[in-house]
Parts: sequence; C-alpha cells; structure tokens
Amino acid sequence: MRVEQPGHRAMIRTRVVRTERLSKHFVTVTLGGAELADFAFLGRDQFVRLFLPRAGQERLHMPASADKRWFEQLRAMPPSRQPHVRSYSVRRFDAEALEMDVEFVDHGDAGPASAWASAAVPGDEAGLLADGVYYLPPEDADWQLLVGDESAVPALVSILEQAPADLRALVYLEVPSPDDVRTLPRLPGVEVHWLPREDAHAVPGQLALETVRAAELPEGRPYCFLAGENALPTGLRRTLVREHGVPKEDIAFIGYWRHGRAALD
Ligand SMILES: Cc1cc2nc3c(=O)[nH]c(=O)nc-3n(C[C@H](O)[C@H](O)[C@H](O)COP(=O)(O)OP(=O)(O)OC[C@H]3O[C@@H](n4cnc5c(N)ncnc54)[C@H](O)[C@@H]3O)c2cc1C
Repeated sequence: MRVEQPGHRAMIRTRVVRTERLSKHFVTVTLGGAELADFAFLGRDQFVRLFLPRAGQERLHMPASADKRWFEQLRAMPPSRQPHVRSYSVRRFDAEALEMDVEFVDHGDAGPASAWASAAVPGDEAGLLADGVYYLPPEDADWQLLVGDESAVPALVSILEQAPADLRALVYLEVPSPDDVRTLPRLPGVEVHWLPREDAHAVPGQLALETVRAAELPEGRPYCFLAGENALPTGLRRTLVREHGVPKEDIAFIGYWRHGRAALD
C-alpha cells in the first residue's frame, strides 16, 4: 500500500502536559517538550510510534536509532528496560507551542496503551517516532468513502478538519456508545454517519462493515480510506473490489488492531 513517509525522523522524548476526557471512550493526551521541534508533521492520518514505559519501570528507555534499526534495538533491550510500542494518529500538532494531541480509545486496562492514557498525569514520560500517511487521494477521484471504527476516529476527524471545502465524501464512524458521537465541522459535500454500537459485546467494526455493505454508493470514481479492527478494512475492501468494481489502487485499507490480540511490541 502506498504511504507517504516523513523525510526526517528523530526519536523524540516528551512529557504529558495535560489530559482531557472527551467522552466515555476517548481521552486526549497532550504531549509536549522541546524535542518536538524535530517532529516532521505531515497532517492527515499521520501516525507515530509511541514508546510508553511498562508498569514498574522508573523511567522510559527508548531505542537510539530513528532509522530502520530501531526495531532491532528494541528487541535487543533487556525485558526490564523495554518500553511498550503502539501506533497512534497525530490528532493535532502545534509547532509553536511544541505540543501534540493524541486521542486514545479507552478500551479498558487490558491494553497497556489504553491503561496508560487513562491514568496519565502531567509529567509522565512518552517517546515517539514520526511515521507515515496512508490517506493519499488522487486528484481526479469523484468522491471519497471514509470508514472507521473508534480507533480510526482521530485519523478521520483530522482528515476532515484538513479537507478542502469542496470535498465530496460519505463518512461512516462506528463508536462504542452514543456518548462518543461528536460534532464535526460541516462541509456541504460531506455526509457523516455516526454508528454508535448498541450491543456491548459486538466486535468493533462489524456494524460499520454491515452498514456500508448495505448502503447505496454514489456513481463515479471513489477513493476509499478504510481503517479499524482488521476485519473492517479487509472485509470492506473485498466488497468494494468485487461488488462495486473499485480498483485496488483506489483503496487505502489499514488494520489498526486485531480483536483478541495485543499489538506486537
Ligand atoms: C496507523 C495506526 C493509527 C492508529 N491510531 C489510533 C488512534 O489515534 N487512537 C487509538 O485509540 N488507536 C489507534 N490505533 C490503534 C491502536 O494502535 C491499537 O488499538 C492498539 O492495539 C492499542 O494498544 P493497547 O496497548 O491499548 O492494547 P493491546 O495491548 O494492543 O491489546 C490488548 C487487547 O485489547 C484489544 N484492543 C486493542 N485495541 C482495541 C480497541 N481500540 N478497542 C477495543 N479493544 C482493543 C486487543 O484486541 C487485545 O485483546 C492506531 C493503529 C494504527 C496501526
């Protein structure tokens, strides 16, 4: 899949500046620090690798290299020093204040990143490494289909905030509860469908998958950005290719997480 990578990468140490509970299942953590001057911000759905200390570690240890070697270095660290590593979208970057907002889904304490964000207090350490952008619509797409579960809400909200005023798009955002529905900037050509889950035991992403499969899609050449629990982007891509004849190169599909499986770190 095509991805736009930052031209420059640095291992960046930050500290929590403040946190804000946005809704029942979302918490914003604002990270700050002088090293953010080295962050290559690309906007849209850009994500970062976050390095978070494990429970019991007194301080954060990070790999030294910002190039491909960081992963080998992480693996070579003794377990007592290894941080957790998780991918998160950059919800807001302020190059003047040297602050970055990251919006975490609070899915309980079973996930170290979710637990870290829910308990974060000013001064807590977090490291980060800039990563890429998957949302790369061609100029000649007639309209866009943007679909995500809660893990992709931060990326999709950023995309919509930065979108041109004449964007034509159908947007489907699945969230865990009605409390997680929020007001978005209104664009005349953009139709947003919030899909709060009613069944607390449903696998996230399935509601969005079924809803979009049943939806009537506009004519013309679409560009599709699909992200969330792995079965949502992969299942929807299959439908779009097989039943709607969408060329594979016009679909960005990214599995953000897997139900029942922790992220590798
Ligand atoms: C490019 C990219 C951008 C992303 N952006 C964001 C973002 O901005 N905000 C965000 O919240 N997530 C985002 N994610 C998803 C996030 O990286 C994963 O949800 C990650 O697994 C969370 O780590 P954890 O330590 O909380 O849970 P893990 O240790 O990875 O998993 C523990 C358990 O929790 C489950 N789990 C993991 N994530 C979720 C979830 N969202 N809901 C319910 N159960 C879950 C797993 O299946 C597993 O059973 C992004 C992922 C990618 C690849």
